[in-house]
Amino acid sequence: MPTLFEKIVAREIPADIVHQDDRVTAFRDIQPRAPVHVLIVPNKPIPTANDVVAADEATLGHMFTVARDIARQEGIAADGYRLIVNCNEHGGQEVFHLHMHLVGGAPLGPMLRG
Ligand code: AMP
Repeated sequence: MPTLFEKIVAREIPADIVHQDDRVTAFRDIQPRAPVHVLIVPNKPIPTANDVVAADEATLGHMFTVARDIARQEGIAADGYRLIVNCNEHGGQEVFHLHMHLVGGAPLGPMLRG
């Protein structure tokens, strides 16, 4: 079964895609938690951070350069932003296709509730 995000990568279901290349796709989160909330996903469906392998390193690194470029495009690079990858139950992961959240556009508060 393709993941929800594979269907977005394949453009089988609609999404507000802000970047796509041969390795990654980035699109706006459907339920934004900040003024800017973009998800950056590998086109290849890696389920969780536990499942990454050495062969994924170039793609995973590319996710950071894409995040940097989108932050610039969105005008939030100088003020700053947060990059988040959730893993499994304790991390609060809901979609089991690895993704990086790029959130910003306002002060985000403490990283974690104490
Ligand atoms: P996570 O909890 O890290 O797995 O985050 C999953 C994210 O996917 C959540 O922030 C959801 O709002 C987002 N999401 C779920 N379905 C869609 C969709 N169809 N298009 C865009 N974002 C989605």
